Amino acid sequence: MFCTKCGLCLPEQANFCTRCGTAVYIPPQPPVCVEAEQSEMATPVENQDQY
Ligand SMILES: [Zn+2]
Repeated sequence: MFCTKCGLCLPEQANFCTRCGTAVYIPPQPPVCVEAEQSEMATPVENQDQY
């Protein structure tokens, strides 16, 4: 596992980063079915540049 802050490689049992001291969170199990977060990128198409 890696520190989420500084990216230091940490042992599995580590609860805190030995470099920056950030508490590292270990998820009990990997997410199985993660729905992709749909970002609202609705851009209006009515304002088109016409040459
Ligand atoms: Zn760190």
